Amino acid sequence: MSFLLPCPHCGPRDVNEFDYAGEVTTRPSGTPDVRELAGYVYFRRNVAGVQREWWHHRFGCDTWFLAERDTRTNEVLRTDVPAARERARA
Ligand SMILES: [Zn+2]
Repeated sequence: MSFLLPCPHCGPRDVNEFDYAGEVTTRPSGTPDVRELAGYVYFRRNVAGVQREWWHHRFGCDTWFLAERDTRTNEVLRTDVPAARERARA
C-alpha cells in the first residue's frame, strides 16, 4: 500500500520514505500501578478513523513529526512538528 504523506519540511512524499512510530499515547500521571503501566506500554486504541500518530522522515530530512491520519482511507489531514523539537532545530 502506498500513499503520500506530507513532511512538514519536505512536502508530500511517498509513505515508504517514512517510519511509522505508532499512535500518540498519554503517559500515566502520578505513580501508576502495574496495570496502568502495562496498558500504557502494550495497549493501543487502534481506532478506525482519525488518529494522531508519530512519523519519522527516515529517507529524507530525519524529522520526527505528528500526523493526523484517517486509518480507514490513509487520508492525512494534518502534519506538524511539535514546538519543542522545532525550537531545537533552530
Ligand atoms: Zn522531510
